[in-house]
Amino acid sequence: MARGVSTGIPGAISAAQAAALRGGALPPVERLRPGLWSIPVPFAVGVPDFTLCYAIDGGAAGLALIDPGWSDPGSLTALEHGLTAIGRRIDDVSLVLITHLHLDHLGAATVIRNRTGASLAMHPLDVGHIRGWAAERVDDAEEARGWGVPSALLPGVLAAWGTGRGAPVPDPEHFAVDLDLIDGMTVDIGDTRLGVVHTPGHTDGHVCLLDEADGILFSGDHVLPRINPGVGLGGRTQRNPLDDAIRSLERVARLPDAGRLVVAPGHEYRFRGLPDRAAALIAHRAERTAHVARALDALDRPTLYDVASLVPFHGGIGSMSGFLLASAVAQTGYHVRALGREDEVRIAD
Ligand SMILES: [Zn+2]
Repeated sequence: MARGVSTGIPGAISAAQAAALRGGALPPVERLRPGLWSIPVPFAVGVPDFTLCYAIDGGAAGLALIDPGWSDPGSLTALEHGLTAIGRRIDDVSLVLITHLHLDHLGAATVIRNRTGASLAMHPLDVGHIRGWAAERVDDAEEARGWGVPSALLPGVLAAWGTGRGAPVPDPEHFAVDLDLIDGMTVDIGDTRLGVVHTPGHTDGHVCLLDEADGILFSGDHVLPRINPGVGLGGRTQRNPLDDAIRSLERVARLPDAGRLVVAPGHEYRFRGLPDRAAALIAHRAERTAHVARALDALDRPTLYDVASLVPFHGGIGSMSGFLLASAVAQTGYHVRALGREDEVRIAD
């Protein structure tokens, strides 16, 4: 889940993905190199409207999938069609690697694990957020009540953000992971070696996966070509997800040969120019922090909603409700925290 369109936008490497984007169509299944494919998996709700799943042929080790997409039947069928197109089946999957806990990436993982016995791998911080889901939503609701959202909009915010939020898939009680993805470790899939790069920000446990030999970074939602990924969207955290996101962007921009890497993101299209794209995303964050600082300067004892109202969000906060509004106010709070100015914000009764 991500939103907002920024400047500093790299072009697509793949003509097919560029053409699909222009035509508003789903891109085709593509082979990036022998034994590596991208499979678009559409889903019914949300923006953007498809996830790019990556399939890696590990020979005798079986097939690995990075981010298999949503668990709804239409998405699963699309994934199966994509696997058929590359001459594989769901039953061939032996490993599912997850960049982060969002359902457009993780949703199908448990279904595949249950069906095929495939191992599931993700970062323990995101596993913790799934396990703590119910308790975190109680605290989210409590916090959102203090934001000062107009009363007519508050029920929608609580429904999207707090305990009214739809039950998660997978079910936290029955969620099992077979392999922790820890920063610095490597995962071998046949001849392909992926290095785990922990990139907190979008979620605490977000990871990118680096195929150094082939010069490919699977970037999940950490770096996308056109969308500014939201931060702190993985659950309640003691960290400042905004600071995390900036550090994580600086980190991937410093990877060996970062400028030559093919960035294979979770949405949109593949591109090169990671350092420039990371710099554009950092600049966007800095600009927003400056807007929040000016709003705090201009207001006397504001609520967080008052502050957010002065931030030029895409479309303006007046056009928002539900999850978008909740996310915009929460993001504003991270900028206030990054400025160290929490004391200036009043909790509404
Ligand atoms: Zn996503």
